[in-house]
Amino acid sequence: MTDPSRLRATYSLGRPGIDERDVAALLRERFGVGGGLGELGSQQDRNFLVTTPGGRRVLKVFQAATDPALVRGQLAVMSALATHGIVAPEPLRGLDGEFVQEWTAADGTSHLVLLLTFVEGRQLVDVPYLSARTARGLATLGGSVCRVLAGVGFDAERVFQWDLRHSLDVVRDLAGVLPPERRTAVLAVAERAWAEVAEVADDLPWQLIHADITDDNVVVRDDPDGLPRAVGVIDFGDLTRSWRVGELAVLLASMLHHDHDDLGVLTAMADAFAAEAGLTAAERRALWPLVQLRAAVLVVSGWQQLAIDPGNDYARERGDHEWTVFEVAAGLPSAVMTTLLLGAPAVPAPLPAGRLLAVRGQPHPAVLSLAADSAVLDDGAWLGAGAEDRVIRAAAGDGVVVLPQGEFRLTRSTPGADPAHSAPYSLLAEFAGVRAFEVEAATTMVVASLGPDALDLAAGGGVLRLRGLAVAPGLRPGTPVGPGTLLGTAVAGPSCCRVTVALQGDATVPVPDFCPRDRAVGYAPLVAGTNTALGLPEPASPDVRATAHAEQRRRDAFLPDSTERYYREPPEFVRGWRSYLVDTAAGVHLDLVNNVTAIGHSHPALRAAVDGALRRLNTNSRFLYRLLADYSERLLATTWGTGYDSVLLVNSGTEAVDLALRLAKLATGRNQVITHREGYHGWSEASDAVTTSAYDNPNALATRPDWVSVAEAPNPYRGVHRGPEAGPAYLADFDRLLDGLTARDAAPAAVIMESILGNAGGVVPPAGYFAGITDALHRAGGLSIADEVQVGFGRTGDTFWAARAEGVEPDIIVCAKAMGNGFPLGAVITRSEISSVLGQAGMFFSTTGGSPAACAAGLAVLDVMEREDLMGNAREVGAHLRRGVDELAGRHPLVGAMHGRGLYQGIELVLDRESLAPAVADTALLCEALLGRGIVDQATSERQNVLKIKPPMTLSRADADWFLEVLDDLLGKEWK
Ligand code: PMP
Repeated sequence: MTDPSRLRATYSLGRPGIDERDVAALLRERFGVGGGLGELGSQQDRNFLVTTPGGRRVLKVFQAATDPALVRGQLAVMSALATHGIVAPEPLRGLDGEFVQEWTAADGTSHLVLLLTFVEGRQLVDVPYLSARTARGLATLGGSVCRVLAGVGFDAERVFQWDLRHSLDVVRDLAGVLPPERRTAVLAVAERAWAEVAEVADDLPWQLIHADITDDNVVVRDDPDGLPRAVGVIDFGDLTRSWRVGELAVLLASMLHHDHDDLGVLTAMADAFAAEAGLTAAERRALWPLVQLRAAVLVVSGWQQLAIDPGNDYARERGDHEWTVFEVAAGLPSAVMTTLLLGAPAVPAPLPAGRLLAVRGQPHPAVLSLAADSAVLDDGAWLGAGAEDRVIRAAAGDGVVVLPQGEFRLTRSTPGADPAHSAPYSLLAEFAGVRAFEVEAATTMVVASLGPDALDLAAGGGVLRLRGLAVAPGLRPGTPVGPGTLLGTAVAGPSCCRVTVALQGDATVPVPDFCPRDRAVGYAPLVAGTNTALGLPEPASPDVRATAHAEQRRRDAFLPDSTERYYREPPEFVRGWRSYLVDTAAGVHLDLVNNVTAIGHSHPALRAAVDGALRRLNTNSRFLYRLLADYSERLLATTWGTGYDSVLLVNSGTEAVDLALRLAKLATGRNQVITHREGYHGWSEASDAVTTSAYDNPNALATRPDWVSVAEAPNPYRGVHRGPEAGPAYLADFDRLLDGLTARDAAPAAVIMESILGNAGGVVPPAGYFAGITDALHRAGGLSIADEVQVGFGRTGDTFWAARAEGVEPDIIVCAKAMGNGFPLGAVITRSEISSVLGQAGMFFSTTGGSPAACAAGLAVLDVMEREDLMGNAREVGAHLRRGVDELAGRHPLVGAMHGRGLYQGIELVLDRESLAPAVADTALLCEALLGRGIVDQATSERQNVLKIKPPMTLSRADADWFLEVLDDLLGKEWK
């Protein structure tokens, strides 16, 4: 045990008694600088932010008792870090040329003082959402700092409260300041953790460490994609020679009060740290107990600091964080965490040699999978109360089914539930049936204990736990059982009989029946062998993050970088249903971006229609079949006005745009086309030529072929003309462009635009604009093309075609996406006087365009839209969303505007409502944070600062509320 008086001397200190007048004099006399002053938080020293004409500085006034060798050590560390490219404050010399100054405060005590540059950037603690990537980068930084520090000389001998080697002493010494129930909890955890550390303490390497690399002391800057990256460290007040792994323990503890204490992320952090600084097996075993000890020290120190310095608001504010850290750390048993950190249990239990149990009379019960991709869960069978029992009853019939251990059961996930808090992963297997059944031993074991519905058997090195069976008479603790011995009869539950089974190697660790996804990697090894005990294969690794990474790498191996993708570290999806997407860990996400699946994911009516065509006839449109006319007539019936009588069916939006451009050129005998800024129209040569979005192609504007002219995006929010009355100004600009073209003998064949500017974020053009440019084109002998690929098909809620609401009858309408709900289907709708010119360029034929399967898909989509009144739903839920977002905008300044209508909307995020500076980095981070909360959303517009709202049109009010609640919560954090 450390000499208690030496230790106590370090924590019974208040902050230096120096006031701002003193500080101003000090700065003037010693450093020759003056400027505005503000105090920065500190537990025991005093830090002042000084705003000088030469930049911001930090003045550090050390405790009177500070050893000068410690201050010299800090200078050496700052210099070493700078040499290795790690951002850190730089010390500034005093007027006498020395870095370290000594100052006697008004109360007569003398203090060492340093003046440092202020490291620009944000502190990690102010970042509103910590992504897995940022967290890993933080650990890499921590590891690099640790590696650099290993080479720095340090001659201060310290015994102090933040060195984890003294942690138990500190906790015991200070626990008296805690309220009684907290005191008991903190002491118990610290004592147990210390015993675990003691087992490996002699093998822990030590060196100089920073000992306080936490979210407070790490500076971040944004990567080009908007996610913050840890780049530097500040505050070297806790430098000490101690266990190297202590550096990582401190860092991990500071993660536990963030949005997630995701174990996968914590493990990845340990690996990232290890890659820089190294981490032995002994260190991995000591890590989690040290995190618990750090948490305990934080809690007792915080209370103690308040006891001696009740005015220290900084210490008071931190109290809640520190208690959260403690609760999370204490709530995760070391056995689980160490298993995770070592990649295997510290003492692996051998798998059983074979089956341990059987159902009497049914040697091979059918396996029932409730994993997210299981066919028995199709058509939403996983939803609603009692879904699991229903599925079991249907599958079991008269017999028994076996549900394996190691599945993420979709029946345990609910839309709207926070993914971090649902527990879908099965840490047990089950026998289940509608009727009671008997369970017997399949090998020799011994009864360990039993209760009313419970039986534990000693099996090999572990314990086989059975629950939910009435134990057979005659069994007592110590009774041996052998192959065929009756163990008990399944107890009837409310709707079926279920006997759960788990084989636990180390019976002392409490293992829940089900756990959240990130806990699975830690708990699964503790029940290894459960499936073998029932004659089933062992489960695949529950590390879904790793399997998703592997899948991404498989794709990356052959796809060029230019192929777009959502998320740097995407989840892997295996199911879609209505407005939800489900990942491999049965995480149910709300889908706000799939406007293609307008009638909802996996609609059975669509499947049935396509299936029918595939079963009977699926050929091409050179043959005669009814579906082509059936569908084309239905499509024409959705149009308005009197003119539309011609439909050409193709496979995609790109193809439709390409064909529309060709028609316009042939019909007018002209070549020039006017498009708009910020537009996306496809990837083929012609549709790409009219695509101007700088997001899709940063050089778009500079590289348009000479047959394309670009008009301004009529964006009344942030375009060249602003406000609801901006229409005439945009029209005047357009007329000028048109006149210029006509004057140079390049009168256009057509103008193309999205009826609502979808790719700009759902921006509705000023009233009269689309109609005005259509008139202008007509006067000039050209045509207008409405691109309704995204915004058409009832999505805007008021009119089936968005152009109609703009008071215009475009000459050509192109559509795709929603038409087939994911089945490739696109169309050009026009008047026959225009389409009849097509023959001039040869015959037209597109092999699968308008095939029976495509037409059946198209008809099914229209039927469902009508039957389920999805346009009405888009109107109602869209209006509900708008009201919700408008209300959020009143409270959260980041929300600049809500664009669009119905279920095509966009939430534009700005740093400032005057300048409209786009909040690009915040939007990227918000999308990551939304994903963490189960909401799939993406940024759009050229500036990437608009959140898309273009979900399946099945989005319910409850779904919308789910999004609004999460958004409100996230926006409530501190954004830039
Ligand atoms: N037009 C618009 C407005 C679009 O958004 C898109 C696709 N995003 C296209 C055309 C091209 O459609 P597709 O991807 O089906 O070729």
